[in-house]
Amino acid sequence: MTIRPLLNSLILSKLPHIGTTVFVAMSQLAQQVGAINLGQGFPDFSCDPRLIVAMTEAMQAGHNQYAPMAGILALREAVVENVAALYGHRYETAHEVTITAGATQAIQTALTAIVHAGDEVIIFEPVFDSYEPVIRMNGGMPVYAKLRYPNYRPDWAEVRALITPRTRAIMINSPHNPTATLLSADDMHELANLLRDTQIILISDEVYEHMVFDGVKHESVARYPELVERAFVISSFGKTYHVTGWKIAYCLAPKALMQEFRKTHQFAVFSVHTPSQYAIAAFMQYATHLTLASFYEAKRDYFLAKVAPSRLQWLPSKGSYFVTARYAGIDEYRELDDVTFAAHLTRQHGVACIPLSAFYHDAFDESAVRFCFAKKETTLAEAAERLVKI
Ligand code: GLN
Repeated sequence: MTIRPLLNSLILSKLPHIGTTVFVAMSQLAQQVGAINLGQGFPDFSCDPRLIVAMTEAMQAGHNQYAPMAGILALREAVVENVAALYGHRYETAHEVTITAGATQAIQTALTAIVHAGDEVIIFEPVFDSYEPVIRMNGGMPVYAKLRYPNYRPDWAEVRALITPRTRAIMINSPHNPTATLLSADDMHELANLLRDTQIILISDEVYEHMVFDGVKHESVARYPELVERAFVISSFGKTYHVTGWKIAYCLAPKALMQEFRKTHQFAVFSVHTPSQYAIAAFMQYATHLTLASFYEAKRDYFLAKVAPSRLQWLPSKGSYFVTARYAGIDEYRELDDVTFAAHLTRQHGVACIPLSAFYHDAFDESAVRFCFAKKETTLAEAAERLVKI
């Protein structure tokens, strides 16, 4: 009888305004009502069978104890070679690469390593939902720059105006979740101009780096030496190799930054699942990332062709495996907030999506929802058929 009040008084929430993530909520709803889940971003097809073989072989070879804290050497070497080949910067294997338990952990660890109480961190809204709570848990203050409909381009003059002596870091994300837009070379130069002569650290979330469409190249921070020297660059094996459930990613940073990162990393997870690291290190020789853009571009085109007759307004998807759509033009729905619309679509029409307001601290509502097209053609066709009927 007395337990509840006691517990209530013991728990002073560090995140009083935060519930369970929208991705979990929408996946649960989809499951409950048997809807096709185009909400949470993950593939509904299997990974390359060679990767499963490599995982089995790693376990059978006895790679089942703790990996080195920073990750196994072979995987860090493979990452260094890949990044050097793609973007021209050669990170140091020993000191500048760390394997993490997913990109969300890498972001959490990078922020925890550098944010002090009272520090400000500039983030761009709409923004992936983990950034802001982690900044706050470290005593920091998120400062919001806006990416605005319809192009969702950063306004660098606006960003410049947000910089104060307390700005510790700025976070970028390209290809961007949820808007599927890209930072351009011009953006990267503007960013470099902005950061020059400051002490601001850059955190670059590049988990969709290999999903850049229409022949455009990914503007990794690793292409820009001036940015590299102040940056954490984060990418995801889970997304690149269709194994989001393996929860494995990596972080790159110059030695001094990585040293701080590892201090935090070792007490967060110590090290990451060993057989996955061996499996991915072995599998990387097939260089499947080189065909990932065309693989997902074909899925995007397939899905967008099928949904073209629908009454939703589809925004361009230039990268990532997401596409957003607006329903403001549909008379019977225009008055609905996006959370209600997403729930309605899931329950009544059997297609789950993510409301864009989940990516804004003030639940800003632009009558838009995000769909994930990392699905089999049969799934996309069935979902499209339902969407065309609304
Ligand atoms: N990155 C994925 C998305 O945006 C979800 C990750 C998660 O569920 N935490 O859908």
